[in-house]
Amino acid sequence: MPERAELLEALRHADPDVRRRAARALDHLPLDERTVEALIELARRETIPAVRSAAVHVLACEGCKSEACQTSHDIVGFLIDILRNDVSADVRRQTIDGLRSADTAPRVQAALREALNDAAFKIRWKAAYILPFEEREAIRTNRSGVRAGSRVTAADDPSPY
Ligand SMILES: [Zn+2]
Repeated sequence: MPERAELLEALRHADPDVRRRAARALDHLPLDERTVEALIELARRETIPAVRSAAVHVLACEGCKSEACQTSHDIVGFLIDILRNDVSADVRRQTIDGLRSADTAPRVQAALREALNDAAFKIRWKAAYILPFEEREAIRTNRSGVRAGSRVTAADDPSPY
């Protein structure tokens, strides 16, 4: 499939916008082994959050694809690692939809509970909606914490949701 080959090549382009658009275009192709590998690699080495965000979205997103992902890679493990460790809230947010589809797995539950203490309100909010009702109570406490001034820097993420 030449289209896929070109997009995978473009993930290594010098222009971050080309890398980002290539990743987004891959969202509409079925994930194969090569693509998963290339996207994980990109997410690991990429310094521009918008590009990492696009790469992580493709790995987490089932909604954009017509065929299910066939891969030996531990995508859920990768998403958990990003949710725990990425410095950008926008990138962390991209993991949540992917984790939702595996939300009964103990390691996913554990990661989502940790995310209730995320620095960004929108991450705590999304995580809380996946967890059982009682656990949503935790978000109320955290929300008042935000108002009291424990908010993350604007550089982390300026968008309001
Ligand atoms: Zn998508």
